[in-house]
Amino acid sequence: MSFLQSRAIVLKVMDYGESDKIVIFYTQHFGKLKAIAKGAKRSKKRFVNKLEFFSLLDITIVPGRLSTMGRIDNASLVNPFPTLRENYHRYTAAMLVCELMDQWTRENDSDEPLFQLLCWCLHELSERDSIAETVIFFLIKMLDLLGMGLMLEHCLVCGEMEQTTLPYYFSPAQSGIICSRCCRTNDIRLIPLSMPAIKSMQMARSLPLTRLNRLKISGKSLAEAAMVLKLYCNFQLQREIHSWKQFNFAQ
Ligand SMILES: [Zn+2]
Repeated sequence: MSFLQSRAIVLKVMDYGESDKIVIFYTQHFGKLKAIAKGAKRSKKRFVNKLEFFSLLDITIVPGRLSTMGRIDNASLVNPFPTLRENYHRYTAAMLVCELMDQWTRENDSDEPLFQLLCWCLHELSERDSIAETVIFFLIKMLDLLGMGLMLEHCLVCGEMEQTTLPYYFSPAQSGIICSRCCRTNDIRLIPLSMPAIKSMQMARSLPLTRLNRLKISGKSLAEAAMVLKLYCNFQLQREIHSWKQFNFAQ
């Protein structure tokens, strides 16, 4: 029998039946994986404090036969990110990031840069105070890695990018921006997006992760970026991200 071994982050944990748990991981080598932890509800010893939201683990999984779920054979804790659990703002940010990761990815679709991005994000959320910025940066980078990045370089209609104080409008359906001149509809799904917010988002896109902590975004731009990204996710996923209600971007 061949085992699957990988470093992994717990995205979600659900009770299953009388004594088991189902865990969704994002793994370094195999992408998103769902597996069952037999007896995890009853025997506290075996998986104690390990199968918790956003813990970083080394896991061994016995693959399931045919299309059945794999079974977690072993899990050892690499980093439990304790500070994320001690502070409500950090905790809700990490929950939001994990729910987004779960909703945007498919099972068994390996993507190591995405795993590294998630690790980077959880480290930043546990150590730095710019929590809302980190969530926005994560989301911008994640969408780019998934090939779903926002088109912010020019107006989708006229192709121009004018330095203007007039707002642009973001269209979740078209994944890009439309300038004030071209925007002649009263479409309520279009979201205003100012030039400073567009520039900040472009900067976040182009900077490597190691330099993102130097990027400062005004509260106004951050609020605009959060609104655009939230409505874009809801539209593209055709569902609401629950953790967004708990996380306060303005804090
Ligand atoms: Zn235009």
